[in-house]
Amino acid sequence: MGSKFKAVNNRDKNFTRAKMERRLAQIEESVARYLGQLDTADLQEPSEALAAKMMHLKEKLAKLASEVQRLRAIEKAMLASPDQQISLTDPDSRSMATSGRGSGVVGYNVQVAVDTEHHLIVTHEVTNTGSDRSQLANIASQAKDVLGADHLDAVADRGYFNSTEILACEQADITVTLPKPMTSGAKADGRFGKQDFVYLPTEDVYRCPAGEKLTYRYTNEEAGKTLHRYWTTACPRCPLKSQCTTGPERRITRWEHEHLLEAVQKRLDENPQAMRVRRETVEHPFGTLKMRMGATHFLMKRLPKVATEMALHVLAYNLTRVMNIVGVKPLLAAIQT
Ligand code: SF4
Repeated sequence: MGSKFKAVNNRDKNFTRAKMERRLAQIEESVARYLGQLDTADLQEPSEALAAKMMHLKEKLAKLASEVQRLRAIEKAMLASPDQQISLTDPDSRSMATSGRGSGVVGYNVQVAVDTEHHLIVTHEVTNTGSDRSQLANIASQAKDVLGADHLDAVADRGYFNSTEILACEQADITVTLPKPMTSGAKADGRFGKQDFVYLPTEDVYRCPAGEKLTYRYTNEEAGKTLHRYWTTACPRCPLKSQCTTGPERRITRWEHEHLLEAVQKRLDENPQAMRVRRETVEHPFGTLKMRMGATHFLMKRLPKVATEMALHVLAYNLTRVMNIVGVKPLLAAIQT
């Protein structure tokens, strides 16, 4: 599970393309406004007050011109950076979206694996990648290694749903449970989604909402994935066609490892409490860590130092957790043995 922690980098000292465009547009607007005021001032009778006003406007325009120069220099550096983003105070921190609507932080994405029974942090990692989509196998494998377990059951949120990550977990003997994000364009347009088609493994066909069987047609590769394609020739005569496809027939794609994704969904259906348990499990350490770290979470700058700072916080969290669970004396005795 990941959470965004604030870096020592004010939002105003972080620039993305969109932010830069907004700032420059605002300045352009101000310049136009001041120039307009200068034009009308020109039409007035000269006076001392007017001269002072014009001087003031010219100063403002000069300030804006130097601000544009400063921003253009930052823009150049920003466009040259690999992810077209720049943070001036802590160059490794990144602007990241958070779960709150329209909100974001300039900071780091801290990944943790937490045990559901005692809420101890089994492993953690500090990254400056905003998205969780490629983190699942890495953090789950680390947790499995730390625990010295042969097998691990991991629960994650939908932000981690990524078929190649799920495959990597399966290959590492990690069983994952997580919901699939609803990204189907057809579903969004009010047409049947893929989940409305039932795969029948014994026949290797999909049964559609009209009861037709979509048979296997061909296989191709897309973005490194082997995909099987299914369809039926019944679509043109189907009374449900308008709810199904805008093309000549509805085609269903099946990844060669699709059964793993179906197993994930089945586990979720069989264990509807999983997501609640996950939320409660990670809220505890993240809430405690952020409370202890204060309003600006990190004090250090740059990823290696921030990672060390986080490691100390995690150690402190785990120690106080163990003290609360087993007591101070047994903990000291355990440390000495
Ligand atoms: S359009 Fe084709 S796939 Fe869709 S419900 Fe009708 S027969 Fe089934």
